[in-house]
Amino acid sequence: MPKKSRSKNKSHSGVDKKGKILKTKRKTKDLDEIQKNMAAETARELLNQPVDYDVPGAAQHYCLYCARYFVDDHNLQHHFKSKTHKRRVKELKTEAYTVEEAERAAGKGQYRPPKPVNVPGDQKNLYQMETDVV
Ligand SMILES: [Zn+2]
Repeated sequence: MPKKSRSKNKSHSGVDKKGKILKTKRKTKDLDEIQKNMAAETARELLNQPVDYDVPGAAQHYCLYCARYFVDDHNLQHHFKSKTHKRRVKELKTEAYTVEEAERAAGKGQYRPPKPVNVPGDQKNLYQMETDVV
């Protein structure tokens, strides 16, 4: 028999509402968007943005993998060592979920496991690597 004290209302109303607001506030780009941004051209643009005083650090310290701005280089370097950043890098190493993948898994066409994605530790390598090759 379920205990009376665990009422549904207590754990969901109010608390849930607040949680939702925070979630959208903290919401950054989705993994597939970031993987698109990791293309050399976009990466170069994002990491060399013009000075914009509307965003933290005038858009000069940006973590591409987490789609976040930092106030200064010190904070950015600190962020690279953080748990959130490392977890994000790990998530980015597998190809983003696509509709095609879901269809393949459901039996449409041939199943192919998600491709591993190259995520360099230094985000500047995203575009420098490509220019080295050319
Ligand atoms: Zn990061």
